[in-house]
Amino acid sequence: MCVFNLVVLVSFNRAKIMRGWTGNFLNVNLTNRKWAVESFDLAFASKFLGGRGFAAKVLWDRLPVGTDAFSPHNLLIFAAGPLTGFVLPNSGKLVVASKSPLTGGYGDGNIGTWAAVYLRKAGYDAVIVEGKAVKPTVLHVKDKDVEFLDATDLWGLNSYETEARLHKLYGRTSGIVSIGQGGENLVKFACVVSQEGRAGGRPGMGAVMGSKNLKAIVIEGTGTIPAANPSKLRETGLAGYKEILGKPTYAFWKRQGTMSTVEWANENSVLPTLNYREGVFAGANKIGGYAEEAAKVSNRGCPNCNMTCGNVVKDAENRDSELDYENVAMLGSNLGIDDLSQVSVLNRVADEFGLDSISLGNVLGFAIEASQKGLVKEKISWANLGEAKALSEDIALRRGLGDLLAEGVRVASAKLGGSSTDWAMHVKGLEISAYDCHSAPAMALAYATSPIGAHHKDAWVVGWETQHDRFGYGEEKTAHVIEVQHNRGIFECLGVCRFPLVNLGFDRDWYTKYLHLATGHKFKWKTLNLISERVFNLMRAFWIREFSGSWDSRMDVPPKRWFTESLSKGNLKGAKLDRAKYDTMLQGYYGRRGWNVDGVPTKTTLERLGLSDVARQLDAS
Ligand code: SF4
Repeated sequence: MCVFNLVVLVSFNRAKIMRGWTGNFLNVNLTNRKWAVESFDLAFASKFLGGRGFAAKVLWDRLPVGTDAFSPHNLLIFAAGPLTGFVLPNSGKLVVASKSPLTGGYGDGNIGTWAAVYLRKAGYDAVIVEGKAVKPTVLHVKDKDVEFLDATDLWGLNSYETEARLHKLYGRTSGIVSIGQGGENLVKFACVVSQEGRAGGRPGMGAVMGSKNLKAIVIEGTGTIPAANPSKLRETGLAGYKEILGKPTYAFWKRQGTMSTVEWANENSVLPTLNYREGVFAGANKIGGYAEEAAKVSNRGCPNCNMTCGNVVKDAENRDSELDYENVAMLGSNLGIDDLSQVSVLNRVADEFGLDSISLGNVLGFAIEASQKGLVKEKISWANLGEAKALSEDIALRRGLGDLLAEGVRVASAKLGGSSTDWAMHVKGLEISAYDCHSAPAMALAYATSPIGAHHKDAWVVGWETQHDRFGYGEEKTAHVIEVQHNRGIFECLGVCRFPLVNLGFDRDWYTKYLHLATGHKFKWKTLNLISERVFNLMRAFWIREFSGSWDSRMDVPPKRWFTESLSKGNLKGAKLDRAKYDTMLQGYYGRRGWNVDGVPTKTTLERLGLSDVARQLDAS
């Protein structure tokens, strides 16, 4: 079992001096079925905070450069933050991270799951999995005990069936993350699933799990997460819930969650439509927030959350499907489907197979366009649920055209040729999420510089952009993208959901208070921002080290379609991005971040962030 410089192997007692953090990682090697507890100290915790920060640091320190993402040596990390699991708003988040098989760079995602809470109650801040089991395996963690269980009979089941079987064995008080057939078959955008609808790890973390023959992790934790001031933390946590309940937009959020974004995106010409050819969709209202309200049967959500934003509807096959904006836009307007019950089928199928619903919608849109343009022999049409569903299954099981599409749009377009690389909608290999950017330069920059490839969550600036110099490429935009990237990165490290702050205006001071009461240490928001910037640069360094020799600013450019094919519909008909202005904006972004013209952090920047060791390694690579 490898260790890194800040960590030494010690007993559980070491954790007693830590508060907020358990102080322990659980290292698991699937090849030899060995495991060990490893502790970290306060200096490490204060520098990287948790969640994504811990994952990025561990990957940087331990993963040999050039390791194949499906090699047993790749690491799969499940990391909580110092607020995860406490009774305070939306604290059920777990980051799942690895080197990505889809992009070749750093990959992660967060998932709301009871596994996060029980992991912390079991006495760990992270599980770090390496190696490969000789046969399908379930990892069972119960407090200090770890078991490796034969999962041969679960292999081939979808994520819902897997979790149901495991809950029968381990009861409802276990937290479970699992993969479906997508992960088993190494679909490059397979994700990790929990609780029938919670999913995380867009850049193929489910496929990495599959490559290790790891079908599921079951976690039971019966201990107490250590806090510096437990009673005050609980009291302040409950006060936070009360504050959220009183927010003016709370009732509307509970009704629609993120679904109201469908109508908003359509009104603002950013709703991805027909493989991002357009930003408006005639059927938007039929798949939007009010259509969802009319069809809704219940709400679901992550642990410790009173904002539960998973909108459950009955799909066209009379099964429950949990909707949010991203999956509805990608599997609805992007495929030309204007029937919410049909979109819901595709969404549920994605969750069952353990396929990322954003990438799936993107890949299906790409395939339909390829079919229409004669690049593939299969006939696939817009607005056709049956064909889209059948192709989703082919992708999960890697059959026929599905086998090629399972590689993601970057690889598929490289193989299909023609003009398809122009409308393969990805950045760095990760399929773009649900905002069209023909008319949104700052959002395009946010996608292009996201630390995992084109994902919206690190800098959702499009709402702000529609209110601020919509078509400009000025400095205000680069500054805002960076500010949002840092703010949001804090949540990826804390182990809590950002939605209370982002969507309801829950003040950020709550989080510094919680952190103080949990850890006993005062962190100003400014300090958290600096940590977030450090982690952002560390992820960047990981990419650059992996792509040493081929990395330059072209890695940070969105797809050609947005520069060359104007919107042909809606109020913003004629809009497209300007490449020269975009390049200038990108250089402005680099300059503001302290990166060179290729987008590489300078030695001065890395040293300012306390990453001198990273500067040395980048220099040498
Ligand atoms: S608001 Fe939604 S995503 Fe956030 S914790 Fe609650 S259910 Fe999960």
